[in-house]
Amino acid sequence: MNKQELIKEIGRLRKEKEAIILAHNYQRPEVQDVADFAGDSLDLAKKGVSSKAKVIVFCGVSFMAESANILSPEKTVLLPMIEAGCPLADMVTVEALRAKRKEHPKAAVVCYVNSPAQVKAESDVCCTSSNAIKVVNSLKEEEVIFIPDRQLGRYVAEHTKKKIHLWPGFCATHYSVTPEEIIEAKEKYPGAEVLVHPECRLEVIALADAALSTNGMIEYAKKSKSREFIIGTEMGLLHRLKKEMPDKEFHLASKKFICPNMKLTTLKRVAESLREMKHIIKIPEDIREKAKRSLERMVEIS
Ligand code: SF4
Repeated sequence: MNKQELIKEIGRLRKEKEAIILAHNYQRPEVQDVADFAGDSLDLAKKGVSSKAKVIVFCGVSFMAESANILSPEKTVLLPMIEAGCPLADMVTVEALRAKRKEHPKAAVVCYVNSPAQVKAESDVCCTSSNAIKVVNSLKEEEVIFIPDRQLGRYVAEHTKKKIHLWPGFCATHYSVTPEEIIEAKEKYPGAEVLVHPECRLEVIALADAALSTNGMIEYAKKSKSREFIIGTEMGLLHRLKKEMPDKEFHLASKKFICPNMKLTTLKRVAESLREMKHIIKIPEDIREKAKRSLERMVEIS
């Protein structure tokens, strides 16, 4: 099937199965375009909740589809590519977290949403890259174990008086980009504002005009009077930025900003997923209930 035939087939199957297609901002452009909504992981999980669809096709990585199932257990959640995991999420396990809790018994556990459902269930509260500082500062505990992203944890530590116990996790896509590359991009586009994701190194964040989540970057660029931006996050976001702001210019800060897992999902796989109803993501009920509490606590705070 060629691209147009695949798009048609996806449209037909979407109706037949009463499905909604959600695509993360890092997905391939053609996958974002065929989706009902593009957004960040939590944003999309919430779209899943408010939708009347019976099936959610989550074009993203596994922890995102898990979050959709945690919040919408009555719907069938499909992940087109079962191999699409997140190496950052895999850097924390329940056993390791329990051991860390024993080391710091007075600390609350704040869990970035880029984590497995079992780990969310073991945590006190979840956070996203946009509300992490607010969530940490709202806690009564003076100590926090921040999992699993060390860079985001460091960024939070700079904006709180609480003691942050960092976790040795990182996103290879964001961590690989160096300050030298940002300096080079700034020299190439001297009039551009620099927006980077807080999963980047602190030295990279220090060179930026703002550290923001993907949705935060879109809002910032819309409100800003600047016409040109250097973007420091996964390249997929540029498609949405250019589509929503055709009168502005966006440059990727480094060619290294590509997540191989996010690029696994293709139109062919989306069609296959709907046709064969695969791969169903379902979290055991006891874990789902506990993970949901951590997510709900975050929503209450933010
Ligand atoms: Fe995970 Fe990083 Fe890829 Fe996001 S960009 S899915 S955090 S590896």
